Amino acid sequence: MLSVEEAREQMLETIPVLPTEKRGILECVNYVLAEELKSTENIPPFDNSAMDGFAVRATDVKDTSEDNPIVLSVVETIAAGYAPSKQVTSGEAARIMTGAMMPDGADAVVMQEVTELNGDKVTISDSVEKDENVRFTGESVSQCDSVMSPGKVLRPPEVSMLASLNCAEVTVHQKPTVAIVSTGDELTPLGESLTPGKIRDSNRYGIFAQVQNAGGIPIDMGIAPDDEDETERIFRESIAKADALITSGGVSVGEHDIVKNVLTKLGEMNFWRVAMKPGKPQAYGKIDGKPVFGLPGNPVSSLVVFELFVRPAILKMAGHTDLLRQTFKAVLETDVTNKDGRVNFMRSILTEKNGQYTAKTTGPQGSGILHSLVLANGLITIPSGATLSAGETVDAQFLH
Ligand code: AMP
Ligand code: MG
Repeated sequence: MLSVEEAREQMLETIPVLPTEKRGILECVNYVLAEELKSTENIPPFDNSAMDGFAVRATDVKDTSEDNPIVLSVVETIAAGYAPSKQVTSGEAARIMTGAMMPDGADAVVMQEVTELNGDKVTISDSVEKDENVRFTGESVSQCDSVMSPGKVLRPPEVSMLASLNCAEVTVHQKPTVAIVSTGDELTPLGESLTPGKIRDSNRYGIFAQVQNAGGIPIDMGIAPDDEDETERIFRESIAKADALITSGGVSVGEHDIVKNVLTKLGEMNFWRVAMKPGKPQAYGKIDGKPVFGLPGNPVSSLVVFELFVRPAILKMAGHTDLLRQTFKAVLETDVTNKDGRVNFMRSILTEKNGQYTAKTTGPQGSGILHSLVLANGLITIPSGATLSAGETVDAQFLH
């Protein structure tokens, strides 16, 4: 059996990063930048006021205080969006709004709160230093600065920065389209009534949502029945339509071997036994050079294997370099044993108290008990053979 780390490393090494495309600024959030962005402009493009107030020469108000106010002549009002038309000389001030261009001659702004305007005279009752309340040309970004490098994830601040740089289009990595197929004669889609022996197909919907959350573009390819020809037809159609394929079910031992047979026939597949619970049986490989993930059928196994293996793969395809969830230490609230020879990823509620996380498992942990994941916000890692008491520390990670 492979360890989780070995299997994941081997798999991730073979995952391709998708080619790039140009996207408009309004359609690029959460994509990964694939070019170096240099500023062609200064931000801000001119010296401007950080306050509503009065642009002055700092030396004029050097000794000013509430007990020793000074009166200056107001030469004009400068609103944001307009250029000043007058110079400020000694004994003068210009009324200025936040973001408005600094007038020649002035080198500081006195905030409105310490002034009183009477006609064209202003009484100032506080001093300012030179440069105070002034935002200088290029202080945020200078012309020719490198602002963002390839690999940068475009979050809202980056989108805002693109607009500041007059960048209407950017080169990003494509997001993967991911075809999803459930397998098994027992599966019934939503809306149809259950006949004896049948169950709901829940995995397809859960995986669809996981692909969306990982930033992939899911394509629902329905249910493949336990029939080799039909399964082959659906798998072929799926791989032709998408950058990757996820199947659920049919990869464990003692299974009707249809899924395994078809995957083996279509591509280069490995049927892995990974030393983890839930989710020991998994398949990974490629068909037509595209990654294929065969997830186990048990609902908890399918969701957990996706989280630990498929999510990082989707992130890598989309150009991300930070692929794995952060792990941290959590203190057990109850005793936990793992008699298995495999690492157990227990579904847990992780709570922070005074900078320390605690972990409480979410009841029965069978791989079919989906509710154990619905109640959980994270996973804790219980090493094989471990007997741990409340108060001991384990590795933990969030599921979101
Ligand atoms: P398998 O991996 O195909 O042997 O399936 C293992 C268990 O998961 C069986 O109890 C299946 O009925 C169940 N199962 C398989 N596929 C799904 C699915 N799409 N939704 C819910 N349960 C499933
Ligand atoms: Mg099956």
